[in-house]
Amino acid sequence: MRISQLRQRLHDLGCKPCHQDRLLRGWSQLCSYDKKGSPAQTFFPAALRNELPAIEAELDGLARLHGEYPADAEVARLLVGLADGQMVESVLLPRGGLCVSTQVGCAVGCVFCMSGRDGLLRQLGSAEIVAQVVLARKRRAVSKVVFMGMGEPAHNLDNVLEAIEVLGTLGGIGHKNLVLSTVGDLRVFERLPQQLVKPALALSLHSTDAALRARLLPQARQIAVAELVQRGEDYARATGYPVQYQWTLIEGVNDSDAEVERIAQLLSGKYAVMNFIPFNDVEGLPYRRPSAERMAYMVGTLKQRGILARLRDSAGQEVEGACGQLRARAATARMA
Ligand code: SF4
Repeated sequence: MRISQLRQRLHDLGCKPCHQDRLLRGWSQLCSYDKKGSPAQTFFPAALRNELPAIEAELDGLARLHGEYPADAEVARLLVGLADGQMVESVLLPRGGLCVSTQVGCAVGCVFCMSGRDGLLRQLGSAEIVAQVVLARKRRAVSKVVFMGMGEPAHNLDNVLEAIEVLGTLGGIGHKNLVLSTVGDLRVFERLPQQLVKPALALSLHSTDAALRARLLPQARQIAVAELVQRGEDYARATGYPVQYQWTLIEGVNDSDAEVERIAQLLSGKYAVMNFIPFNDVEGLPYRRPSAERMAYMVGTLKQRGILARLRDSAGQEVEGACGQLRARAATARMA
């Protein structure tokens, strides 16, 4: 379900935009439809009042908790069942963060990611994306949403932008606390500046070498890394939010001195943060993370060169590096 389809349905029931907003605010924030807390909903048109239980049940069924896998006190993976039986993952992150999925599967096929194994199965509707936030809020408060779970947001941009607009206008999430992550796609740079709600941007780089990047992210649109960084920089300056670069660190693949040197040159003077994410072992994949010393050396060298760089903490590592594993495990279990 798309939010725009829900709005059309509400419109057909005689709802004005203010009624639609009230319903979307109440749903996404788990609060009363009436600002004063009245349970009566007498301000809704009668046709909606009759339909409300059915609509609420439908919204409730968009995302159901199928399993919860805590990593520590603040971090947990949520396996989320969709109405058609498909599964995606959301991840509860520290300090009120939530990572949501935007597609079932993913077409980019990053060689280090399990989500790319089966390719793209289907898009998530914008309401299914918001429903992951609602589901998480039933467990705890959510004040930041990152679009970094299963899927490439640029490949489902209409739905992702619709979800971002609802969360940023009615869902109580600050605009800079909405973070769209992409491997880089010109459509993102064209459309984000036009949006009412402009999210912060995360760019998955993984290498500065064009040929290596094409091997690591085989189905990503090939944009020159320098152009990607420049477009990210323009957006960061326009919004006031730094670009967060993502780099899954793989031993012997993208941890060389040459990469460090090129990162330093590319990001010098840029409004950006480099997040290194140590690769998490995945059965069947021939990769390993670099040694702790090597990773610390890379971060330290970049810092000396004036680049904001950091290693993600262990919670972040589990979340990022094992993208798609939980769903893959569940699918295997169901087949067994
Ligand atoms: Fe898709 Fe992200 Fe996995 Fe790459 S890392 S295959 S973009 S989900």
